[in-house]
Amino acid sequence: MSPERDQIDFDVLFVGGGPANLAGAIHLMQLAAEKNLELEVALIEKGKKIGAHALSGAVFNPRALEELMPDYLDKGFPSEKKVRGDRLYYLTKNGYHALPWSPPAMHNEGFHTVSLARLTRWLADIAESLGVSIFPGFAGKEVLFAKDGKTVVGVRTGDKGLDREGKPKKKFEPGIDLMANVTIFGEGPRGSLVGEIDRKLGIFPKDMPQVFETAIKEVIQLPEDNFFSTSEFNDIHTMGYPLGINTPGGGFIYEMDQNRVALGFITGLSYEDPMLDTYDEFMKFKTHPLVAGIIKEGKVVEQGARTIASGGYYSLPELAVDGALFAGGCASIQDLPSLKGIHVSMKSGMLAAEAAIKATGEKDFTRESLDHYTELFKKSWVNGELYKGRNFAQALARKGLSKLIHLGAQTVTQGRGIFDPMAHHGEDHTAMNVLNGTHRAKAVDRITYDGELYVDKLTGVYLSKTLHREDQPCHLVIHDPAVCVTECYEKYGNPCVRFCPGNVYEMEMEAETGKPRLKLNPSNCLHCKTCEIKDPFQNILWTCPEGGDGPNYAVL
Ligand code: SF4
Repeated sequence: MSPERDQIDFDVLFVGGGPANLAGAIHLMQLAAEKNLELEVALIEKGKKIGAHALSGAVFNPRALEELMPDYLDKGFPSEKKVRGDRLYYLTKNGYHALPWSPPAMHNEGFHTVSLARLTRWLADIAESLGVSIFPGFAGKEVLFAKDGKTVVGVRTGDKGLDREGKPKKKFEPGIDLMANVTIFGEGPRGSLVGEIDRKLGIFPKDMPQVFETAIKEVIQLPEDNFFSTSEFNDIHTMGYPLGINTPGGGFIYEMDQNRVALGFITGLSYEDPMLDTYDEFMKFKTHPLVAGIIKEGKVVEQGARTIASGGYYSLPELAVDGALFAGGCASIQDLPSLKGIHVSMKSGMLAAEAAIKATGEKDFTRESLDHYTELFKKSWVNGELYKGRNFAQALARKGLSKLIHLGAQTVTQGRGIFDPMAHHGEDHTAMNVLNGTHRAKAVDRITYDGELYVDKLTGVYLSKTLHREDQPCHLVIHDPAVCVTECYEKYGNPCVRFCPGNVYEMEMEAETGKPRLKLNPSNCLHCKTCEIKDPFQNILWTCPEGGDGPNYAVL
């Protein structure tokens, strides 16, 4: 029997506490104040606090923020460093070349490096001061639909206090039904609730699949006298080694305040080799002589992982349905050529807020009314930025010379390139080859895990401060566990043990039978969703654990 649940009604409900929704919530309250409208507005966030799931370290283009709050610098905007200059390097295994030019979209001089955790907390404080009720530690578990089966009327938050079998424990707290005239989803890439809406209403295009990259990031404390003390540039990107030219991805190093750097490595999930280990590629990048020289004598203070939606313009979903709007990464809104998503996410949230205000004024929350957001989006600079990069990810996923020819053609034709639209390679999980005996080398030959600057996967999980209550239903649903130990073991060698950056999946050999057995460590989960995306059998469903669980990124 389902438990009795409280119900709370709002005018507008934001699901997810990232930059898209926080900017949206602020803009909504600004517009409401201009129109003398009193609105009940709430924002829920599954992390323990705002910023807990916002992985630190990014270059921030202030374009949207300048529109939202022209006096943002006076309001204490948490800039880490102003970008003094950028460098793009091509890495070989042991050497490097500084490229004489970098694509204009990657010129960041004058922008700011930020800690995403600090940025979101700062935005949340402003939103709260304007009257938004913010509830961290509440995970949206289920989308609530009206009787017509297509109108979103809110979300149900997850139950707290269930045991492993899903039975209520003594301190059981049933989830709450949060009802709203408009629900704005800003869940971040591969949002679970947006996925639920897509399964019901089919909002994502079928011919241009959603594709992703996985980023593993660290914040490293450097000594006072470090590379950036004298460097004229503090925004570094790399391409080439270790992935080579046939697999999309690359590295970055950004200077942060207090002698820290944000360092990360991104692997495109269109990779083919089932033996590729995302963490191993990250370590190869980090131990490359150029990178090792920049971070020498440092100490890792935080690590984490997340995915980036890289499908781009042609993969955008329908932005509105009856009762709901989609903003930011969960709607694949990402400026791919500039490697930035925060400013376009923020602007999308602000446009969603404008549509929500109009719908509230007209008391019309149908798809037709909320499609005002789609109209605003199409006319906005976000659409222009995304349109310029409309074929970028597709070109990056091509191999060898073909990649260079397509990227070159897109550069001189404002993104059109040779084919427009250019087809994606297919969903990421379809790209994996079966084991064929020719696999990439491991990085172990030059790594010594010293527990300080070079940490292994489990220490990385520890440094993400990820925590899950152990005695709860496993949030990773394996549809058919038999596939793991038969077909997947034989054909792909269980790639989950390598693509998961959190060491959540382990294969053990049973002593009695000598057969493989899957062991799950869900409490290590970094909520990156790589497993759900890349599993070749689509045998894994990532569901939201109890609100407040997961990483606790805290670098301030
Ligand atoms: Fe990421 Fe899945 Fe591993 Fe969790 S279990 S860390 S979501 S790959």
